[in-house]
Amino acid sequence: MSQTTQQERRSAESVITATGASLEVRDLRIKYGEVEAVKGISFSIRPGEFLTLLGPSGCGKTTTLRCIAGLEAPSGGSITLDDTVIASAQKQLPPEKRGINMVFQSYAVWPHMTVEKNVGYGLKGLDRKEVAARVSEVLALVGLDPYAKRYGTELSGGQQQRVALARAIVTRPKLLLFDEPLSNLDAGLREQMRFELLELQRTVGITSVYVTHDQTEAMSMSDRVVLMRDGAIEQLDVPREIYRRPTTEFAATFIGRANLVHAALTEDPHVAVGDGVRIRSEEGYSGSGTDVLAVFRSENVVLGREALEYENRWSATVERVSFLGRHLDVALRLPGGVIRAEVRSDAAVAAGDVVDVGVRAVDVHFVPSAR
Ligand code: ATP
Repeated sequence: MSQTTQQERRSAESVITATGASLEVRDLRIKYGEVEAVKGISFSIRPGEFLTLLGPSGCGKTTTLRCIAGLEAPSGGSITLDDTVIASAQKQLPPEKRGINMVFQSYAVWPHMTVEKNVGYGLKGLDRKEVAARVSEVLALVGLDPYAKRYGTELSGGQQQRVALARAIVTRPKLLLFDEPLSNLDAGLREQMRFELLELQRTVGITSVYVTHDQTEAMSMSDRVVLMRDGAIEQLDVPREIYRRPTTEFAATFIGRANLVHAALTEDPHVAVGDGVRIRSEEGYSGSGTDVLAVFRSENVVLGREALEYENRWSATVERVSFLGRHLDVALRLPGGVIRAEVRSDAAVAAGDVVDVGVRAVDVHFVPSAR
């Protein structure tokens, strides 16, 4: 897409006028034999929104996506696109009647066809002039116009992925589904394609559901993230909130690196005591005596004099210091366990030091403990 000039892109934007649909998934259940892969999940997507299903392998995200596409049937619940129920245990609209396109991990570009033939394939039945106009506008959008006559075999991985994207948007679907579309690309290209894909989605405005197990991809691209675990929704929120305020231990540890300290709540809902430390959280949690986990991110832990200004101050022994270029990863032993701090790489800290450790109450969250 980098080859596309601003002018070309503007002219392409003026032709593509997709209006995204809304999608509602209600109490969706999907079974494989006796195994329930999706256990009654509900979420809705606003027109034009980019929503990501994120979670570890086997959590049910691909199954959910395939059910929206019409490639799996629900055993319960419903999926509604705008005002039409497209899937329920009783009714299944065939995939080709849903107005939904899917972009796969394997680009599925036909090698023996040119780029323009690949992209125009889904427009069969339309007037030739119309097909040519639509194909060229979409190729300009994804920056592949100079490659229109190339064959699938003559394209790089990134270019093939752009063909797959062009093919998915040229039919102007109501909804776009992405199944780990960038995971076959090398790390550098993957990062570049993330931004390109999102920019494209914003330009054409098609409502999108994206599946990935890569938290960075989910965080950087999505309007909202549905974090899934074992066929159920663990947390659904905007990326910043999921990162800043995970509501469960799983959410705290799956996304980013979190320190978890076991503690019991005191009569003050803002204070928990455990593992030899007293921890204050600004938001609080009710239930005196309840076991909780105090969660805080390693980048919110400070060392030395700065710590004295923080509501949570502890004394710790430095166990290990690892130099990671931009920062130091410091392992700190507290009476009840080890926590990690991410501090500036020029900080004067060494293994064996006894240091003051500080965490602001606003950066601490209590989540339920399974203990
Ligand atoms: P991954 O990232 O590995 O693709 P996922 O989160 O997308 O994982 P799904 O592929 O949706 O997970 O699988 C959810 C559960 O359903 C898993 O336990 C899986 O083993 C099971 N499953 C998926 N497809 C089938 C199938 N065709 N037959 C039986 N079980 C299946």
